[in-house]
Amino acid sequence: MAEQFDLVVVGGGPGGYVAAIRAAQLKMKVALVEREHLGGICLNWGCIPTKALLRASEINHLLHNLDAYGFAADNIRYDFAKVVKRSRQVAGQLSSGVKGLLKKNKVTVFDGHGKLAGKGKLSVTKDNKPVAEIEAKHIILATGARARVIPGIEPDGKLIWSYREALAPDIMPKKLIVIGSGAIGSEFASFFLNMGAEVTLIEAMDRVLPVEDAEVSAFVKKAFEKQKMKVITGAKVQGVRKNGEGVSAIVEVDGKVQELTADRLISAVGIVGNVENLGLEGTKIKVEKTHIVTDEYGRTGEDGVYAIGDLTGAPWLAHKASHEGIIVVEAIAGLHPHAMDVSNIPGCTYCRPQVASVGLTEAKAKEAGYDVKVGRFPFIGNGKAIAMGEPEGFVKTVFDAKTGALLGAHMVGPEVTEMIQGYTIARTLETTEAELIHTVFPHPTVSEAMHESVLDAYGRVIHI
Ligand SMILES: Cc1cc2nc3c(=O)[nH]c(=O)nc-3n(C[C@H](O)[C@H](O)[C@H](O)COP(=O)(O)OP(=O)(O)OC[C@H]3O[C@@H](n4cnc5c(N)ncnc54)[C@H](O)[C@@H]3O)c2cc1C
Repeated sequence: MAEQFDLVVVGGGPGGYVAAIRAAQLKMKVALVEREHLGGICLNWGCIPTKALLRASEINHLLHNLDAYGFAADNIRYDFAKVVKRSRQVAGQLSSGVKGLLKKNKVTVFDGHGKLAGKGKLSVTKDNKPVAEIEAKHIILATGARARVIPGIEPDGKLIWSYREALAPDIMPKKLIVIGSGAIGSEFASFFLNMGAEVTLIEAMDRVLPVEDAEVSAFVKKAFEKQKMKVITGAKVQGVRKNGEGVSAIVEVDGKVQELTADRLISAVGIVGNVENLGLEGTKIKVEKTHIVTDEYGRTGEDGVYAIGDLTGAPWLAHKASHEGIIVVEAIAGLHPHAMDVSNIPGCTYCRPQVASVGLTEAKAKEAGYDVKVGRFPFIGNGKAIAMGEPEGFVKTVFDAKTGALLGAHMVGPEVTEMIQGYTIARTLETTEAELIHTVFPHPTVSEAMHESVLDAYGRVIHI
């Protein structure tokens, strides 16, 4: 006899577990099916363990620049296995935290693989053996995504790494090649560089972090190069050769072919949705480019089946997944939530220097037909950034010249991943330049650069 629920969520990542908790708050009887780790990629193999590693590389960088702050230390070294262990422990701690949260909210968790099994039905198996048959009025698919694999550059767990191997590396490579300069590639490149590796970052597009504002991309490339990273843009990887203990990439730039060698290679060339073996066949659920197609309330073509998070496509971000989960559940409960406004989802990259943005880039705003007013403020004009010894970077704001609406904000520099939320709130509240100019920013903080950037757009900048 099948177990009955109001809602069953397939996948326990930030999309799925947040949806399950919100549904429980709304008095639904909820089940969650997870085949690997609660917390999904985000907590176990993504957002969190990368930040734990990046914290270590920040510390390593600081320790090697103590002189600037009046300190001296000899024989600075690290134990790489301990650095990795700490990152895995942080991931483990958070994953068990999710287990506790689900328990507290009385969500029934099934350990296994969930698959649609007819209208309102889901089967759960573990190692191909049946675990449970579930019936639910509503089913949310939140099965996430995995690394895209380019033929010939398949991660082998030894010389070629995907993000999974890169998060639990067997060695600290002396020489590393990273293919792909999106957020994931740039973070790994920055981590290994700041831990002392010789890093080459290869990007097919003409700039790094290609979704960011062009000025931010240009700045990050220069900053990486200043840190002695080799950055190759506009590059086509023709192939990869493994040779015993090392690996090389054959790369073509402007018709010239070169072979780069390294100890390890990280392939970070995108994401594909986990749409396989989900029982989608014979349903009205549409899949496009490995992602499930939904409307703005997460509804698929099949009545009662919803999809959220990485499974539904870009932007592949944990906070997007969670927010979608809440919208879907609240819509199911009849609460009439606002639909997701993708343009108000902030994006952060935790490389050194950090990058954060929300809304339209200047180019996209122009493409959309806006007459723009642009403000810029460099951190070299900000007292706190100078006091911290991190005056690198800038804040750029893009306004609609006609209405003063904040169209987008783009930052590179210290703590910008913490600060972008200020502009995200501004955009969510449909703020114009008037309110931003009128806002009092605390002194001394790096956030004052956000104010100055707005002032600059309107010819009122003070500190530059
Ligand atoms: C290295 C790296 C760094 C990242 N850093 C950031 C960051 O800093 N900030 C950010 O916002 N995002 C980051 N991301 C992206 C973020 O991890 C994802 O956007 C987020 O995890 C998506 O959440 P989700 O719930 O949609 O899917 P996932 O987190 O992928 O969770 C899906 C879950 O479903 C389970 N599952 C799959 N199929 C089934 C099935 N049939 N039955 C049962 N269970 C199933 C999986 O085991 C998984 O646990 C990063 C990603 C990577 C790889």
